[in-house]
Amino acid sequence: MTGEDEKQGPERDLWAHAIERAGLGVWDADLQTGDCYYSPSWARMLGYAPGELPRDPDVWLALLHPDDREQAIASGDRHVAGLTERIDTEMRLRHKDGHWVWVLDRGGSVAWDAWGKPTRIVGVQTDITRRKQAEDRLAQINARLRLALDASGTGIWHHDFATRTSFWDARTHEIFGLPSGDGEVARDQWVSQLHPEDRQRAEREHTLPRKTGATAQLRYRMIRTDGEIRHLETLVRFVPEFGEEGQFVGTVQDITEACLREEELARAASHDRLTGLLNRSAFDAELARALEHVEDRPFAIYYLDLDYFKALNDVAGHATGDSALQMIGRIISQALPHDATAARLGGDEFAILAPLADGQEPSTLAQTILRAIAGTSFGENAGSPKLGASIGYALINDGSISQAEAVARADDACYAAKASGRNRCVAFGEGAAASTSGLTAARILSDTIDGMEDDRLLLFGQQIHILGLPWSRSHRCEVLARLQDRNGRLIPPGAFIPAAERFGMASRLDRWIVRNALQRYGHAMRGPGDLVLGFNLSAQTLSVPGLWEFVDREVEASHAAHSNLVFEITETAAVTNFQAAERFVHAARERNCRVSLDDFGSGLSSFDYLRRFPVDSIKINGDFVENLAGSAFDQAVVRAITDIAKAIGLTVVAEKIEDGDTQALLKNLGIRYGQGFFLHRPEPLDAIMVQLQESRARM
Ligand code: C2E
Ligand code: CA
Ligand code: CA
Repeated sequence: MTGEDEKQGPERDLWAHAIERAGLGVWDADLQTGDCYYSPSWARMLGYAPGELPRDPDVWLALLHPDDREQAIASGDRHVAGLTERIDTEMRLRHKDGHWVWVLDRGGSVAWDAWGKPTRIVGVQTDITRRKQAEDRLAQINARLRLALDASGTGIWHHDFATRTSFWDARTHEIFGLPSGDGEVARDQWVSQLHPEDRQRAEREHTLPRKTGATAQLRYRMIRTDGEIRHLETLVRFVPEFGEEGQFVGTVQDITEACLREEELARAASHDRLTGLLNRSAFDAELARALEHVEDRPFAIYYLDLDYFKALNDVAGHATGDSALQMIGRIISQALPHDATAARLGGDEFAILAPLADGQEPSTLAQTILRAIAGTSFGENAGSPKLGASIGYALINDGSISQAEAVARADDACYAAKASGRNRCVAFGEGAAASTSGLTAARILSDTIDGMEDDRLLLFGQQIHILGLPWSRSHRCEVLARLQDRNGRLIPPGAFIPAAERFGMASRLDRWIVRNALQRYGHAMRGPGDLVLGFNLSAQTLSVPGLWEFVDREVEASHAAHSNLVFEITETAAVTNFQAAERFVHAARERNCRVSLDDFGSGLSSFDYLRRFPVDSIKINGDFVENLAGSAFDQAVVRAITDIAKAIGLTVVAEKIEDGDTQALLKNLGIRYGQGFFLHRPEPLDAIMVQLQESRARM
């Protein structure tokens, strides 16, 4: 041990105190004797009291972490060999508790022999455990961050204001189509690749965070070095503490795919899938916008309804029907002035908004479309009538007109066109009769909507019997809507449902009926023998998104059974909404709801639908039943329908049975169910419920 210290007295005390206070460990090795002195502070750093450690010069080696041994010894050897200026190494020593203490060991020679070989080396060890732990945590955070950046494909970059240099990581290089790299890029690299249309805005938004201190998010297009246009999103923040004048620190992400998907979704939400024209809701929005500016820019609104579309569909099939609708869509698009918009409102109805141009007669557009339709073959068969169109239009130049009224005027003129022989165009106001009916439709509609809100929409029902047996044997009932006008008069559905359909409100009405019927009578619809309610659904309802979630929710809330619900869809609804009808029937079957094909036989190829829609029952169109006793033809039709339906296991229901003879005939034909004034006149469902309870009490 080099016991003899050169420094004496107060100066030595000062050093010792400083070292003690700083918590540094001092060692002093005499290379000639092989002895080594360790200061008490060194022992304390490792948790030992002075004198507790053996007086062994190699005691540090005994405490050294095996993984650090090689490097620590080498660091000393290199210095002794004269290869390094000093010893400088980090290592772990075992604390008395057993944990590892990270120390920074720094030292060097202080005495040499005649040949210049070191004879004495002194050094200081500092506890750097805390720093090491912090570094460790930082490395972990970095690794996680890198992983997240890699997973999200995000690149990171920064720009230093003092040096005016930008640094991009490898991913940023990749995004911009630059050769793989990681580091400084040309000063104008970013700006030079910005899409010319986005350049000014992107540059401006990019510099904002320097003023605001907030993180800016910007989206812009960039032209890759290979010429491809990509959509990027960048987050950027100004960090004043970095560098001498601060830095922009940012991320960049290629969001091209997400942008394209967004565009597609937006398109799907506002466009009709079949024709590519706007859909009803997008048209409504366009109309609202046009009305806002009508004082400066008057416009014409056109309503186009196809003639003989159903016949085409029936005879030539729904694929031909779809392609005809597509062709009509194209004809309209081609005839359209550049500043006009066109929409398919549903089924075979279309609408157009066109600004009024000076010196241009608004009927010209309609005539052009009519001529094009007349000159086109839509795949009609020899026997079927030629597809045509009736167009009505109205000039709108007055800001006080409501949206519903504008549509009603064109719609009304369209009716007039149909009434006066189809395949023509009529302007609103031509003919006194025409000028009121459309507005009446709008009025009826708003009355219907109010009716839902103030309980003037009433639930009536008509019993459906097993022919020849009392109602208690079936407990089936068709729900029929009635609207009570403000004077208490009952308006039949035929007078308000078509208006609701024309204005796209029918599904709201249908859902209102289903919800209210289930809320009131669902408790009596729990299973076999209980009340079975049949609901009429409009074509529009079949394709309402979330329809079945709605039905499921209402069924569950009311404790009814799905099997006690029948949905009646008309053939016409199925034809104009083929795919929606198909999906509807399958969804109904999954839940055990029953489906009945209403007004069966009115289409020319009704039997074809039976193959495509696996319904539970068909309801023979009342037109064939009404005069059954007196018409051999009707009897033949009813017999044919019944035979086929029975052959494929469907229940047949006959409606509009008005007398006993008809009932007897139907029974003979083998029809099981029937309804009509002869059996029961529609009355409020509440009254029918009383009968249900009475028949239950008797049982
Ligand atoms: P539908 O489904 O064919 O309903 C049968 C219609 O025939 C009912 O007229 C009923 O009152 C009437 N009827 C019943 N028995 C006889 C009879 O012996 N002779 C005659 N001549 N008629 C009879 P209603 O209630 O006026 O309904 C007309 C149509 O309105 C229904 O025809 C149905 O398509 C529709 N409808 C009724 N309620 C709703 C509803 O809640 N939603 C939807 N979307 N449509 C409904
Ligand atoms: Ca019905
Ligand atoms: Ca019917």
